[in-house]
Amino acid sequence: MDLLEYQGKQLFARHGLRVSDGRAVTTVEDAVAAATEVGYPVVVKAQVLIGGRGKAGGVKLASDEGELREHAGDILGMDIHGHTVRTLWIERASDIASEYYASVLLDRSAKQPLVMFSVRGGVDIEEVAEQTPEQLIRRHVDALRGLSREQAVEIATEGGADEDVIEGVADALTALYEVWIAEDATLAEINPLIVTPGTAGEAGGREVRALDAKVSLDGNALYRHPENQGLSDSANEDPIERRASEQGVQYVALDGDIGILGNGAGLVMSTLDVVAQAGGRPANFLDAGGGSDAGKVKQAVELILANDSVRAVLFNIFGGITRCDEVARGLIAAFADIQPTVPFVVRLDGTNDVQGRRLLEEAALPNVYAAKTMNEAADKVVALAAGRSVEDAPAGAGAGAGA
Ligand code: GDP
Ligand code: MN
Repeated sequence: MDLLEYQGKQLFARHGLRVSDGRAVTTVEDAVAAATEVGYPVVVKAQVLIGGRGKAGGVKLASDEGELREHAGDILGMDIHGHTVRTLWIERASDIASEYYASVLLDRSAKQPLVMFSVRGGVDIEEVAEQTPEQLIRRHVDALRGLSREQAVEIATEGGADEDVIEGVADALTALYEVWIAEDATLAEINPLIVTPGTAGEAGGREVRALDAKVSLDGNALYRHPENQGLSDSANEDPIERRASEQGVQYVALDGDIGILGNGAGLVMSTLDVVAQAGGRPANFLDAGGGSDAGKVKQAVELILANDSVRAVLFNIFGGITRCDEVARGLIAAFADIQPTVPFVVRLDGTNDVQGRRLLEEAALPNVYAAKTMNEAADKVVALAAGRSVEDAPAGAGAGAGA
């Protein structure tokens, strides 16, 4: 679950990471009120779940109300790489002496948390990672001991942080690691982590502060964080994915035109592969689980058909505990209700598959093609999605074949 910048900053603040004062708003008038509260100059920042907002014109400085109105008006409704801006974050602007980079994530191959730090932060960190990887410090952390003070200082020092802010950077790294652990994040990234120019006063201390936040939370651990459950940006979520999660169904939107539905995550994943191999492009991943009752089947079919790019659907059932005849009954009942107009290829194999295919045959559902094997099903569905006909007649002339 990805968080918007301002939501990430709220988590940062909860764990003692320094951030600037700001307000989230959705209208120009509220932006003006927010800027008056935090004080000019302010930064107007598009809140969308995609990086590179600065380069796309979604981050603008405003030194007075006139500029603020202009920028807020421009950025609200702006499209940034396919994401429409509906929320702005109005933040007290910072003076910047340096832009650093810091992140914590899980290094799956090493099975350890990884802390990364660079003094070459800002908008082109990917370039740094590619062209001068030695300027991006990567250090694994012992998950049981956590990030020690010594290691945090060492990372800041080796990364080349300015002498006077080493302690400040170490504080930021420690707090960022704390966010990652305590909030069950999968990613906690700050780019830029800025160093302020400091004041001329006798303290003159330069400050280290998070100017951006990219945080992803582990959705499977959300039950441990009731306070974070409202954080997902439902306006930017795929509406079908949201509906599916409300119904407790595993659904992932993909960008092809063949709906994929199966029982069991492993089977659905291999179905995606087989369809891709047959030259098709899956429109989704949907695991209907072990259930076979009409209600569940209907729900799953409705979810798939809610995506209007779907031109054909492959329903892949491997019967084990779930019996194919029950699934067939569920499907027949569901189809009587929904009456889909896109073609369905139904592959029933395993427990009671013969009975299942016979039931489908007898029901003579229009637009439903039976298949015995996964490859046969994939070939048929790819042909149907492309608008070609398949040799077998609908509703399983030959549904009993191969039994
Ligand atoms: P991103 O482009 O989506 O990564 O958005 P960021 O929040 O990282 O902002 C992009 C860039 O805008 C930063 O790297 C800064 O250079 C600049 N920026 C953001 N906030 C401020 C600010 O308070 N003051 C100044 N001077 N520049 C800022
Ligand atoms: Mn950034």
